[in-house]
Amino acid sequence: MSLAPVAALWRLLSRGQQAVIRRAAVQALGSLSELVDAQSAPQLLADRLADRLDEVGGEALVREPVGWLLGRGLVQRQVCGDVRCDDGIRLDTRGDCPGCVAVTAERRAVRARVRGEIDAELAGDGVVVRQAAFEERLRERTALNADRACARRARIVVEVEARQAAAVRRREAEQAAEAERRSAACTQCGLPGAAGLCPQCTYRRRADALMTEAVDLVVAVRADLDDAAQGTELTERCAADTRALLTRACQRAGGSDEALMAFTAPQVAAQLLDERRVSAVRRLLVSEEAEAEAEAVYEAFLRRRPGGHRAAEAAAEEARRRTAEYLLRHKLGQLQVVRARVAAGRKPTWRNESAAGVTSPADNLVVTPGGVAPHRASAS
Ligand SMILES: [Zn+2]
Ligand SMILES: [Zn+2]
Repeated sequence: MSLAPVAALWRLLSRGQQAVIRRAAVQALGSLSELVDAQSAPQLLADRLADRLDEVGGEALVREPVGWLLGRGLVQRQVCGDVRCDDGIRLDTRGDCPGCVAVTAERRAVRARVRGEIDAELAGDGVVVRQAAFEERLRERTALNADRACARRARIVVEVEARQAAAVRRREAEQAAEAERRSAACTQCGLPGAAGLCPQCTYRRRADALMTEAVDLVVAVRADLDDAAQGTELTERCAADTRALLTRACQRAGGSDEALMAFTAPQVAAQLLDERRVSAVRRLLVSEEAEAEAEAVYEAFLRRRPGGHRAAEAAAEEARRRTAEYLLRHKLGQLQVVRARVAAGRKPTWRNESAAGVTSPADNLVVTPGGVAPHRASAS
Protein backbone atom coordinates (compact mmCIF):
# COMPACT_ATOMS: atom_id res chain seq x y z
CA MET A 1 0.00 0.00 0.00
CA SER A 2 2.79 2.37 0.92
CA LEU A 3 4.51 1.81 -2.43
CA ALA A 4 1.36 2.26 -4.51
CA PRO A 5 2.32 5.75 -5.81
CA VAL A 6 5.51 4.29 -7.35
CA ALA A 7 3.91 1.16 -8.82
CA ALA A 8 5.29 1.93 -12.31
CA LEU A 9 8.83 2.34 -10.98
CA TRP A 10 8.45 -0.86 -9.00
CA ARG A 11 7.74 -2.83 -12.17
CA LEU A 12 11.03 -1.59 -13.67
CA LEU A 13 13.03 -3.09 -10.81
CA SER A 14 14.67 -6.51 -10.77
CA ARG A 15 13.79 -8.97 -8.02
CA GLY A 16 16.96 -8.08 -6.14
CA GLN A 17 16.28 -4.36 -6.42
CA GLN A 18 12.74 -4.88 -5.24
CA ALA A 19 14.07 -6.66 -2.17
CA VAL A 20 16.37 -3.73 -1.42
CA ILE A 21 13.54 -1.21 -1.84
CA ARG A 22 11.19 -3.34 0.27
CA ARG A 23 13.73 -3.34 3.11
CA ALA A 24 14.16 0.42 2.82
CA ALA A 25 10.38 0.88 2.88
CA VAL A 26 10.06 -1.29 5.97
CA GLN A 27 12.78 0.73 7.65
CA ALA A 28 11.05 4.00 6.71
CA LEU A 29 7.78 2.66 8.11
CA GLY A 30 9.57 1.72 11.32
CA SER A 31 10.94 5.25 11.71
CA LEU A 32 7.53 6.74 10.99
CA SER A 33 5.89 4.43 13.54
CA GLU A 34 8.13 5.89 16.21
CA LEU A 35 6.82 9.37 15.46
CA VAL A 36 3.15 8.71 14.71
CA ASP A 37 0.81 5.83 15.47
CA ALA A 38 1.60 2.62 13.60
CA GLN A 39 -1.68 2.62 11.63
CA SER A 40 -1.02 6.00 10.02
CA ALA A 41 2.56 5.19 9.03
CA PRO A 42 1.81 3.39 5.70
CA GLN A 43 -0.39 6.26 4.50
CA LEU A 44 2.26 8.82 5.50
CA LEU A 45 4.91 6.94 3.54
CA ALA A 46 2.63 6.76 0.50
CA ASP A 47 1.98 10.51 0.79
CA ARG A 48 5.68 11.17 1.00
CA LEU A 49 6.35 9.17 -2.19
CA ALA A 50 3.53 11.01 -3.99
CA ASP A 51 4.94 14.40 -2.88
CA ARG A 52 8.46 13.54 -3.96
CA LEU A 53 7.16 12.34 -7.33
CA ASP A 54 5.33 15.64 -7.79
CA GLU A 55 8.66 17.42 -7.33
CA VAL A 56 10.36 15.54 -10.16
CA GLY A 57 7.28 15.70 -12.35
CA GLY A 58 6.08 12.11 -12.16
CA GLU A 59 7.43 8.59 -12.37
CA ALA A 60 8.37 8.92 -16.05
CA LEU A 61 10.98 11.54 -15.19
CA VAL A 62 12.79 9.42 -12.58
CA ARG A 63 15.94 8.31 -14.37
CA GLU A 64 17.39 6.00 -11.74
CA PRO A 65 14.55 4.35 -9.83
CA VAL A 66 16.66 2.65 -7.14
CA GLY A 67 18.83 5.68 -6.47
CA TRP A 68 15.83 7.98 -6.47
CA LEU A 69 13.79 5.79 -4.12
CA LEU A 70 16.65 5.30 -1.65
CA GLY A 71 17.93 8.86 -1.84
CA ARG A 72 14.75 10.91 -2.23
CA GLY A 73 11.50 8.99 -2.39
CA LEU A 74 11.62 7.07 0.85
CA VAL A 75 13.74 9.28 3.09
CA GLN A 76 12.55 11.86 5.55
CA ARG A 77 13.74 15.39 4.80
CA GLN A 78 14.01 17.10 8.08
CA VAL A 79 14.23 20.77 7.22
CA CYS A 80 14.26 22.28 10.70
CA GLY A 81 15.37 20.87 14.03
CA ASP A 82 12.14 19.00 14.70
CA VAL A 83 12.41 15.21 14.28
CA ARG A 84 8.76 15.18 13.16
CA CYS A 85 9.54 17.57 10.29
CA ASP A 86 9.40 16.12 6.76
CA ASP A 87 9.96 18.70 4.09
CA GLY A 88 8.36 21.44 6.17
CA ILE A 89 5.29 19.30 6.94
CA ARG A 90 4.78 17.87 10.42
CA LEU A 91 4.41 14.09 10.22
CA ASP A 92 2.15 13.86 13.25
CA THR A 93 -0.24 16.74 12.48
CA ARG A 94 0.13 16.82 8.66
CA GLY A 95 0.13 20.61 9.00
CA ASP A 96 2.87 23.12 8.20
CA CYS A 97 5.86 22.55 10.43
CA PRO A 98 5.95 25.40 12.97
CA GLY A 99 9.66 24.75 13.37
CA CYS A 100 10.26 25.51 9.70
CA VAL A 101 8.06 28.61 9.80
CA ALA A 102 10.03 29.81 12.81
CA VAL A 103 13.37 28.99 11.18
CA THR A 104 12.48 30.91 8.02
CA ALA A 105 11.30 33.95 9.99
CA GLU A 106 14.36 33.79 12.23
CA ARG A 107 16.71 33.59 9.24
CA ARG A 108 15.07 36.62 7.67
CA ALA A 109 15.28 38.55 10.95
CA VAL A 110 18.96 37.68 11.40
CA ARG A 111 19.80 38.81 7.88
CA ALA A 112 18.02 42.12 8.44
CA ARG A 113 19.73 42.64 11.77
CA VAL A 114 23.19 41.83 10.41
CA ARG A 115 22.60 44.06 7.40
CA GLY A 116 21.68 46.93 9.75
CA GLU A 117 24.76 46.38 11.92
CA ILE A 118 27.16 46.30 8.97
CA ASP A 119 25.56 49.36 7.35
CA ALA A 120 25.99 51.28 10.62
CA GLU A 121 29.53 50.11 11.33
CA LEU A 122 30.89 50.44 7.81
CA ALA A 123 28.85 53.42 6.67
CA GLY A 124 31.81 54.92 4.85
CA ASP A 125 32.86 51.78 2.96
CA GLY A 126 31.81 50.66 -0.47
CA VAL A 127 29.17 48.11 -1.38
CA VAL A 128 31.67 45.32 -2.05
CA VAL A 129 33.38 45.66 1.35
CA ARG A 130 30.07 45.88 3.14
CA GLN A 131 28.74 42.80 1.31
CA ALA A 132 31.85 40.77 2.24
CA ALA A 133 31.59 41.83 5.88
CA PHE A 134 27.86 41.07 5.85
CA GLU A 135 28.43 37.54 4.56
CA GLU A 136 31.24 36.91 7.02
CA ARG A 137 29.14 37.95 9.99
CA LEU A 138 26.15 36.02 8.70
CA ARG A 139 28.30 32.88 8.64
CA GLU A 140 29.30 33.45 12.29
CA ARG A 141 25.68 33.95 13.32
CA THR A 142 24.51 30.95 11.35
CA ALA A 143 27.10 28.77 13.06
CA LEU A 144 25.85 30.03 16.41
CA ASN A 145 22.25 29.38 15.42
CA ALA A 146 23.16 25.90 14.24
CA ASP A 147 24.49 25.14 17.72
CA ARG A 148 21.24 26.38 19.22
CA ALA A 149 19.20 24.39 16.70
CA CYS A 150 21.21 21.34 17.62
CA ALA A 151 20.39 21.84 21.28
CA ARG A 152 16.72 22.38 20.43
CA ARG A 153 16.69 19.25 18.34
CA ALA A 154 18.21 17.25 21.19
CA ARG A 155 15.51 18.62 23.47
CA ILE A 156 12.75 17.54 21.06
CA VAL A 157 14.29 14.07 20.76
CA VAL A 158 14.19 13.81 24.54
CA GLU A 159 10.55 14.94 24.57
CA VAL A 160 9.50 12.42 21.95
CA GLU A 161 11.34 9.66 23.79
CA ALA A 162 9.68 10.67 27.05
CA ARG A 163 6.25 10.50 25.40
CA GLN A 164 7.00 7.08 23.96
CA ALA A 165 8.29 5.84 27.32
CA ALA A 166 5.13 7.13 29.01
CA ALA A 167 3.01 5.24 26.47
CA VAL A 168 4.98 2.06 27.15
CA ARG A 169 4.55 2.54 30.91
CA ARG A 170 0.81 3.05 30.49
CA ARG A 171 0.52 -0.13 28.38
CA GLU A 172 2.51 -2.06 30.97
CA ALA A 173 0.33 -0.76 33.79
CA GLU A 174 -2.79 -1.77 31.87
CA GLN A 175 -1.39 -5.23 31.23
CA ALA A 176 -0.46 -5.59 34.91
CA ALA A 177 -3.97 -4.53 35.99
CA GLU A 178 -5.51 -7.01 33.53
CA ALA A 179 -3.21 -9.78 34.79
CA GLU A 180 -4.17 -8.94 38.35
CA ARG A 181 -7.85 -8.99 37.49
CA ARG A 182 -7.46 -12.40 35.83
CA SER A 183 -5.48 -13.78 38.73
CA ALA A 184 -7.96 -12.64 41.37
CA ALA A 185 -9.42 -15.53 43.35
CA CYS A 186 -13.13 -16.39 43.09
CA THR A 187 -14.94 -14.29 45.69
CA GLN A 188 -17.41 -17.13 46.24
CA CYS A 189 -15.28 -20.25 46.59
CA GLY A 190 -11.75 -18.82 46.78
CA LEU A 191 -10.50 -20.60 43.67
CA PRO A 192 -7.30 -18.79 42.64
CA GLY A 193 -6.85 -17.26 39.17
CA ALA A 194 -10.58 -17.02 38.54
CA ALA A 195 -10.87 -13.31 37.61
CA GLY A 196 -13.03 -12.77 40.70
CA LEU A 197 -15.64 -15.39 39.86
CA CYS A 198 -14.94 -18.95 38.72
CA PRO A 199 -17.08 -20.58 36.02
CA GLN A 200 -18.78 -22.89 38.52
CA CYS A 201 -19.77 -20.03 40.81
CA THR A 202 -20.88 -18.02 37.77
CA TYR A 203 -23.25 -20.83 36.79
CA ARG A 204 -24.36 -21.24 40.38
CA ARG A 205 -25.10 -17.53 40.72
CA ARG A 206 -27.06 -17.49 37.47
CA ALA A 207 -29.03 -20.55 38.57
CA ASP A 208 -29.72 -18.92 41.93
CA ALA A 209 -31.08 -15.79 40.27
CA LEU A 210 -33.34 -17.83 37.99
CA MET A 211 -34.53 -19.92 40.93
CA THR A 212 -35.36 -16.84 42.93
CA GLU A 213 -37.50 -15.66 40.02
CA ALA A 214 -39.18 -19.06 39.78
CA VAL A 215 -39.97 -19.01 43.50
CA ASP A 216 -41.36 -15.48 43.23
CA LEU A 217 -43.74 -16.59 40.49
CA VAL A 218 -45.25 -19.21 42.78
CA VAL A 219 -45.41 -16.97 45.83
CA ALA A 220 -46.84 -14.02 43.88
CA VAL A 221 -49.84 -15.99 42.61
CA ARG A 222 -50.43 -18.17 45.70
CA ALA A 223 -49.64 -16.09 48.75
CA ASP A 224 -51.97 -13.60 50.37
CA LEU A 225 -49.81 -10.57 49.78
CA ASP A 226 -51.34 -8.82 52.78
CA ASP A 227 -49.97 -11.48 55.08
CA ALA A 228 -46.22 -10.94 55.26
CA ALA A 229 -45.62 -13.90 57.59
CA GLN A 230 -47.45 -16.27 55.27
CA GLY A 231 -45.52 -14.85 52.30
CA THR A 232 -42.21 -15.40 54.05
CA GLU A 233 -43.13 -18.92 55.08
CA LEU A 234 -44.32 -19.81 51.56
CA THR A 235 -41.15 -18.33 50.05
CA GLU A 236 -38.94 -20.46 52.28
CA ARG A 237 -40.89 -23.63 51.64
CA CYS A 238 -41.05 -23.03 47.91
CA ALA A 239 -37.34 -22.15 47.74
CA ALA A 240 -36.42 -25.41 49.50
CA ASP A 241 -38.68 -27.42 47.16
CA THR A 242 -37.34 -25.68 44.08
CA ARG A 243 -33.75 -26.19 45.17
CA ALA A 244 -34.37 -29.90 45.75
CA LEU A 245 -36.07 -30.14 42.36
CA LEU A 246 -33.13 -28.44 40.69
CA THR A 247 -30.59 -30.63 42.46
CA ARG A 248 -32.39 -33.78 41.39
CA ALA A 249 -32.62 -32.57 37.78
CA CYS A 250 -28.92 -31.63 37.78
CA GLN A 251 -27.94 -34.97 39.24
CA ARG A 252 -29.87 -36.73 36.51
CA ALA A 253 -28.02 -34.66 33.92
CA GLY A 254 -24.53 -34.62 35.42
CA GLY A 255 -24.27 -37.63 37.70
CA SER A 256 -21.62 -37.02 40.31
CA ASP A 257 -19.57 -34.66 38.12
CA GLU A 258 -19.81 -31.45 40.10
CA ALA A 259 -18.57 -29.22 37.29
CA LEU A 260 -21.11 -30.66 34.87
CA MET A 261 -23.86 -30.25 37.44
CA ALA A 262 -22.94 -26.61 37.99
CA PHE A 263 -22.92 -26.06 34.24
CA THR A 264 -26.35 -27.68 33.85
CA ALA A 265 -28.00 -25.82 36.73
CA PRO A 266 -28.78 -22.51 34.95
CA GLN A 267 -30.27 -24.34 31.97
CA VAL A 268 -32.50 -26.44 34.19
CA ALA A 269 -33.43 -23.38 36.25
CA ALA A 270 -34.32 -21.42 33.10
CA GLN A 271 -36.59 -24.24 31.95
CA LEU A 272 -38.19 -24.41 35.38
CA LEU A 273 -38.74 -20.65 35.31
CA ASP A 274 -40.51 -20.90 31.94
CA GLU A 275 -42.76 -23.64 33.23
CA ARG A 276 -43.59 -21.68 36.37
CA ARG A 277 -44.42 -18.60 34.33
CA VAL A 278 -46.78 -20.55 32.08
CA SER A 279 -48.55 -22.11 35.03
CA ALA A 280 -48.76 -18.78 36.90
CA VAL A 281 -50.43 -17.15 33.90
CA ARG A 282 -52.72 -20.17 33.51
CA ARG A 283 -53.79 -19.81 37.12
CA LEU A 284 -54.50 -16.10 36.67
CA LEU A 285 -56.49 -16.70 33.47
CA VAL A 286 -59.32 -18.02 35.63
CA SER A 287 -58.96 -15.34 38.30
CA GLU A 288 -61.92 -13.17 39.15
CA GLU A 289 -60.36 -10.14 37.50
CA ALA A 290 -59.56 -11.95 34.24
CA GLU A 291 -63.05 -13.47 34.12
CA ALA A 292 -64.65 -10.08 34.67
CA GLU A 293 -62.45 -8.42 32.06
CA ALA A 294 -63.16 -11.12 29.48
CA GLU A 295 -66.89 -10.84 30.13
CA ALA A 296 -66.86 -7.06 29.88
CA VAL A 297 -64.97 -7.16 26.59
CA TYR A 298 -67.30 -9.82 25.24
CA GLU A 299 -70.37 -7.76 26.00
CA ALA A 300 -68.90 -4.52 24.73
CA PHE A 301 -67.99 -6.28 21.51
CA LEU A 302 -71.47 -7.66 20.99
CA ARG A 303 -73.04 -4.26 21.63
CA ARG A 304 -71.05 -2.88 18.74
CA ARG A 305 -71.46 -5.90 16.47
CA PRO A 306 -74.53 -7.87 17.43
CA GLY A 307 -74.26 -11.44 16.14
CA GLY A 308 -70.49 -11.43 16.09
CA HIS A 309 -70.25 -14.09 18.76
CA ARG A 310 -67.16 -15.83 17.52
CA ALA A 311 -65.16 -12.61 17.13
CA ALA A 312 -66.41 -11.47 20.54
CA GLU A 313 -65.19 -14.74 22.01
CA ALA A 314 -61.74 -14.24 20.51
CA ALA A 315 -61.55 -10.64 21.76
CA ALA A 316 -62.64 -11.78 25.22
CA GLU A 317 -59.94 -14.47 25.35
CA GLU A 318 -57.33 -11.99 24.23
CA ALA A 319 -58.46 -9.60 26.98
CA ARG A 320 -58.38 -12.46 29.48
CA ARG A 321 -54.80 -13.32 28.55
CA ARG A 322 -53.64 -9.70 28.71
CA THR A 323 -55.29 -9.27 32.08
CA ALA A 324 -53.65 -12.41 33.44
CA GLU A 325 -50.23 -11.20 32.27
CA TYR A 326 -50.84 -7.79 33.72
CA LEU A 327 -51.93 -9.31 37.02
CA LEU A 328 -48.78 -11.41 37.15
CA ARG A 329 -46.51 -8.43 36.57
CA HIS A 330 -48.46 -6.50 39.12
CA LYS A 331 -48.35 -9.22 41.77
CA LEU A 332 -44.61 -9.66 41.27
CA GLY A 333 -44.21 -5.95 41.85
CA GLN A 334 -46.35 -6.14 44.98
CA LEU A 335 -44.28 -9.02 46.26
CA GLN A 336 -41.11 -6.94 45.95
CA VAL A 337 -42.79 -4.12 47.87
CA VAL A 338 -43.81 -6.52 50.64
CA ARG A 339 -40.30 -7.95 50.81
CA ALA A 340 -38.77 -4.49 50.98
CA ARG A 341 -41.13 -3.52 53.79
CA VAL A 342 -40.46 -6.71 55.72
CA ALA A 343 -36.73 -6.18 55.26
CA ALA A 344 -37.08 -2.61 56.55
CA GLY A 345 -38.92 -3.97 59.60
CA ARG A 346 -42.26 -2.49 58.62
CA LYS A 347 -45.53 -4.32 58.22
CA PRO A 348 -47.12 -4.19 54.81
CA THR A 349 -50.03 -1.80 55.10
CA TRP A 350 -52.03 -1.83 51.89
CA ARG A 351 -55.26 -2.46 53.74
CA ASN A 352 -54.83 0.71 55.76
CA GLU A 353 -53.99 2.75 52.69
CA SER A 354 -57.10 1.47 50.94
CA ALA A 355 -59.19 2.41 53.93
CA ALA A 356 -57.68 5.87 53.89
CA GLY A 357 -58.91 6.36 50.36
CA VAL A 358 -55.88 5.16 48.47
CA THR A 359 -56.92 2.23 46.31
CA SER A 360 -54.59 -0.71 46.33
CA PRO A 361 -52.94 -1.40 42.97
CA ALA A 362 -55.13 -4.47 42.53
CA ASP A 363 -58.28 -2.38 43.00
CA ASN A 364 -57.24 -0.24 40.08
CA LEU A 365 -58.00 -3.08 37.79
CA VAL A 366 -61.59 -2.01 37.25
CA VAL A 367 -63.10 -4.50 34.91
CA THR A 368 -66.25 -2.82 33.63
CA PRO A 369 -66.29 -1.22 30.17
CA GLY A 370 -65.13 2.36 30.44
CA GLY A 371 -63.08 1.48 33.50
CA VAL A 372 -59.35 1.70 33.73
CA ALA A 373 -58.37 -1.89 33.09
CA PRO A 374 -55.05 -2.19 31.30
CA HIS A 375 -54.74 -2.51 27.53
CA ARG A 376 -58.35 -2.00 26.65
CA ALA A 377 -57.61 -0.92 23.10
CA SER A 378 -59.34 -3.83 21.40
CA ALA A 379 -62.43 -3.57 23.58
CA SER A 380 -63.32 0.00 22.70
ZN1 LIG B 1 10.37 21.74 10.05
ZN1 LIG C 1 -15.93 -20.00 42.69
